[in-house]
Amino acid sequence: METTVQDTTTLAIDGGAPVREDTLAYGGQTIEEDDIEAVADVLRSDYLTTGPAVDAFEKAFADFVGTDEAVAVANGTAALHTAMRTLGIGPGDEVIVPTLTFAATANSVVFEDGTPVFADVEPDTLLLDPESVAERITENTQVIVGVDYAGQPCRYDALRELADAHDLTLLDDACHATGGSYKGEPVGSLGDLNTFSFHPVKNMTTGEGGMITTDDSELAREMREFRNHGITSTHHERAEQGSWVYEIPDVGYNYRLTDMQCALGMSQLEKLPNWVERRREIAARYDTAFADVDAVEPILMREDSTCAYHLYVIQLDLNMLSVGREKVFDALQAEGIGVNVHYIPVHYHPFYRENFDTEEGLCPVAEAAYERILTLPVFPRMTEADVEDVVRAVRKVVSTYRR
Ligand SMILES: *Cc1c(COP(=O)(O)O)cnc(C)c1O
Repeated sequence: METTVQDTTTLAIDGGAPVREDTLAYGGQTIEEDDIEAVADVLRSDYLTTGPAVDAFEKAFADFVGTDEAVAVANGTAALHTAMRTLGIGPGDEVIVPTLTFAATANSVVFEDGTPVFADVEPDTLLLDPESVAERITENTQVIVGVDYAGQPCRYDALRELADAHDLTLLDDACHATGGSYKGEPVGSLGDLNTFSFHPVKNMTTGEGGMITTDDSELAREMREFRNHGITSTHHERAEQGSWVYEIPDVGYNYRLTDMQCALGMSQLEKLPNWVERRREIAARYDTAFADVDAVEPILMREDSTCAYHLYVIQLDLNMLSVGREKVFDALQAEGIGVNVHYIPVHYHPFYRENFDTEEGLCPVAEAAYERILTLPVFPRMTEADVEDVVRAVRKVVSTYRR
């Protein structure tokens, strides 16, 4: 009897039995038969790219988020790059971004030779802090980029006020928050421009894929040119008009999304609300399970928003633990739980240190949070047993290391 009890409480990292044998990933796509059929239908049709599925997906996505326009592109990074180019970001222009984000948010500014200016986050939500943004605004600032970290929208009322007062563009990097909302308004309609990613780990997928939403039809037209080499007409438009002539007023990239991907996106979009609901159910179970684990603090969720829970992020209270985050990370991995860390503050990366003189101390709240954050698995395909495995493993590891 006693040995059994000991076996289950000894951490796997110390030679005990793991909570599970196979590793549960932190995220993953849901692909069902109708998704596969939708892609197969396109493969049997005339258009594999620049065809009707692209227009249909753009229309459906714009309707879903409540904007006039949606522009489909190759991935979320291309969406950010397209936005930066179309907004005219160039040398000398400053773009304020939170440091706790995927690097592509800042990289896209660098693509256009602009200067990313790193702002800090709020300690409880880890969302872009409007006060830090206000401190960073200069006469060179052009854009404020909000990142809806973990799936929770930023404080757009405050960010909008700052943008309006200083005549700046507000961009929402909404890659985490597809299907979320803020004060009743869907994510995708909160910024002047809003960017999405459909990478398999995100809330819905097209394999690779991205989208920009806006109410500005002129910007949308420019973005459609930019994603198609800068050409003013598509191949099909020219065929319809019986003409081979086209013009390139400005060079662009090939950032097109194929019809196969757009058909998959259409099919996924229909199911997104249910998937977000499932993500929220799993998050609610974690919230309850960790309410009495004093060394574990889930990031704060505001009542005025609906978080789309791309990630479920906890902050460890390191004062209560005998080890650091890295050891907790390793111990949970050993238990079969695919935890992750989102993110290394972007200003820590050598590229930014070397080229933009960013140093430790620039964003103290994000830097402190970085030492204690962990991302737990959350995705719709998780079973109840998977969810309970995560709960058991976190309780087991944290109670073992509790001071
Ligand atoms: C995923 C992500 C991106 C990049 O999207 P890709 O489709 O992988 O290029 C950009 N910003 C944030 C916040 C993301 O999470």
